[in-house]
Amino acid sequence: MEAGVNDLVRRGTKRLSRDINNSRVLQLIQARAPISRAEIAKVAELPPPTVTAIVNDFIRVGLVREMDQVREPGNGSGPIGRRPVLLELNESAGFAAGVKLRPDGMTVAVTDLAGDLIYHGSSALEDSSPGPALAQVAAAVRSGLARAGVDGHKTIGVGIGMPGLIDFRNGVCRFSPLMGWKSVPVRSELESGLHMPVYVDNDVNMVTAAEIAYGAGHEASEFLTVTIGRGIGLGIVVRGEIYRGAFGGAGEFGHTKIDSPRRCDCGSTGCLEAVASEWGICAQVAELLGSSEISIEEALGLAADGNGDVRAAFTAAGRALGRGIGNLLNLFNPQLVIVTGEGTRAGSLLLDPMRAAISDAAFATLGSDTRVVVQRWGDEAWAQGAASIVVHEMLRPPIYEAQETGPLDRILDRAPALGAGSR
Ligand SMILES: [Zn+2]
Repeated sequence: MEAGVNDLVRRGTKRLSRDINNSRVLQLIQARAPISRAEIAKVAELPPPTVTAIVNDFIRVGLVREMDQVREPGNGSGPIGRRPVLLELNESAGFAAGVKLRPDGMTVAVTDLAGDLIYHGSSALEDSSPGPALAQVAAAVRSGLARAGVDGHKTIGVGIGMPGLIDFRNGVCRFSPLMGWKSVPVRSELESGLHMPVYVDNDVNMVTAAEIAYGAGHEASEFLTVTIGRGIGLGIVVRGEIYRGAFGGAGEFGHTKIDSPRRCDCGSTGCLEAVASEWGICAQVAELLGSSEISIEEALGLAADGNGDVRAAFTAAGRALGRGIGNLLNLFNPQLVIVTGEGTRAGSLLLDPMRAAISDAAFATLGSDTRVVVQRWGDEAWAQGAASIVVHEMLRPPIYEAQETGPLDRILDRAPALGAGSR
């Protein structure tokens, strides 16, 4: 049963208002540091004593520190007043782990609160069925944290990014054709073993979370992330938050339908990713050459050698992709579209026809108003993105009863006070 949003919104308790104030103050310090207590009170519209109490709590646990630098009142020539002490986030007050899970392996990353990568490592998945795979994920997270030199109690949570239809709120993988999973309670399985908050999301949303926090999306409140690789994914950011849809299925861009008879992995025909993803391109090239299978490297090699048919397959893929993105521009009117994923390695062969088709499909000036940027992401960057969703959740106003104890509680409820700077 899907719980209605109204059942999940927290009642107006004292604890709720405390949590919301905490998160507003922390968000401001993260976004606008160096910042003084007085500036926080003004921007957050909170009484100065409330801000002072919250900041003192943050300083006590080592989450925020006072900077040596102080700001002169006015331009320094005015009357001498109290010089405000400036605050900043202590990025090593907590650490987050992130996992990018694939059918054949996983990459684990550990980051600090600023999202800086402290450790990353990859391993092959021995058994991709849910039980053994999740046991291996838990073991890899523990070992990654140990290698990063991070104590379990300083870890604020773990983010898991995986392909498929994921119910983020309940932490359940509803359906992942690539993994071969159906209705797997990933979060509860992992939380019972790891004893820390676990967030499970579609891997594309993990990349999108990283773009919000540290990437090109930092400056944009409305943007889209399109990933091209094994599949074609879409992250949707509306008002600075990831839009996941009613059942977690928003962004299944790869399974939007185009005029094509090709069969898709999902069981349907005419899906965009059956034409424009790397496997879609490989399948078409294999057919052209009358061979049973061909790798993307081989296909790219043939195109580079000037094989016209193979080049035409890439052009058709780029056009289909661009037409789809142009439709997205018409629907969402984003400021920015970030195109990423291993599929971008095809370069201008795929991306030039894509850009041309975006302009053709976009209505009026929407194509020229929107910036389209191409970014390369390695697996460690995806895992870093998975960790960033934990930090993102820590900073987000906690209005939903998603979890009993969130990432910020892990730091605030922690005793004794942390030594700043130590791991
Ligand atoms: Zn499909």
